[in-house]
Amino acid sequence: MPRPRSGGRRALRLNTEILAAHTAESFAVAVARASALLRAGDVVALPTETVYGLAANACDEQAVARLFSAKCRPADNPLIVHVASVAIASRCVATWPRAAQRLARAFWPGPLTLVLPKARTIPDIVTGGGATVGVRCPRHPLIRSVILKCGFPLAAPSANRSTALSPSLAEHVRSSLGGRIPLIVDGGPAQVGIESTVVDLTVQPPRVLRAGMIHRDALMAVLGSSGGEIRGDQTEGGEPVTRAPRRSPGQLARHYAPRTPLAVLEWDDDADLRRQVRRLGWARRTVQILAHTNIPGRAGWGGVSLIPCHPDGCAQALYAELHRCDQQGGAGIVIEAVPKDPQWEGIADRLRRASAPRPAQRRISRDRSAGLQPS
Ligand code: AMP
Ligand code: MG
Repeated sequence: MPRPRSGGRRALRLNTEILAAHTAESFAVAVARASALLRAGDVVALPTETVYGLAANACDEQAVARLFSAKCRPADNPLIVHVASVAIASRCVATWPRAAQRLARAFWPGPLTLVLPKARTIPDIVTGGGATVGVRCPRHPLIRSVILKCGFPLAAPSANRSTALSPSLAEHVRSSLGGRIPLIVDGGPAQVGIESTVVDLTVQPPRVLRAGMIHRDALMAVLGSSGGEIRGDQTEGGEPVTRAPRRSPGQLARHYAPRTPLAVLEWDDDADLRRQVRRLGWARRTVQILAHTNIPGRAGWGGVSLIPCHPDGCAQALYAELHRCDQQGGAGIVIEAVPKDPQWEGIADRLRRASAPRPAQRRISRDRSAGLQPS
């Protein structure tokens, strides 16, 4: 299979076109332009309801190699294949079990990815060399129309450079991939706001590989007793348990992260928050606070912003808030911890990974906490 070009440097800096899609006319023009580029084997950033995706023809190895290269994504990190119907999904997989049928009926189109044994039509490059493929039927009308017009499924990871914050606005895509891709379609703010829930149906009981807004209890309600106790992606020693093929565990633990250090804290009152931030060694006047319940006074902070205290609203706002704080470039961002409730598990997962120490820091803090264990 063609290897993604290393470093992701494209010889030519492209003139990235940005097309709006908010009227019937502009929508039709955007679908036509995106489909033409995809048919020609190029990559295009498209809105989905989770986050913006960088799409390529999932059946075209060269196009997928171009996608890995534009994102600087490691070759062993599998891509989710986006389809417009169960009929297209079942052509991407070797088996379509009853559990897949039930989940698809309940949650598609929507933010749920099903991992199943892959069909031969899906090249190895899409699955990171693995024997399984993740399939999802998105809800956003733009990407749905593009898939139908193209007549092939689209591999579409988030439209950002690898490991960085995902884009929930077209502007986020432009600032990360502008000059590296020919087209971004602006379909407005992502409605769900965080990446899909990923469920592995190749194991019994099924396992959540990545938490999302469709939580474990909702999956179990649909699968009933046949699903058994669906296992979560519990972290063991800080590393999320995952069955993704040949993934580097260090890379998994830290993901979806802003460049600015992020701390997830709970505080009793303003004085307690100040104390905790002092302990982090951050210059208070440059620190951004994102709070949903215990809102501190503004004085003395770089900024204090409210985020919704409902999981749907919080997920919708999360990445845009983190992008905004990141642009301020202060010493750090503090976000108020979210409730330990199934409806919040997708958001809690992103916060855990976004605030995980970088690999070097992780070694130091582990040494400190575990009495200098070898790492
Ligand atoms: P991203 O495209 O960055 O949103 O990430 C997609 C995620 O879905 C990967 O990081 C994996 O955790 C998961 N995934 C996708 N395809 C597979 C697969 N075939 N097997 C296991 N996990 C997968
Ligand atoms: Mg991503």
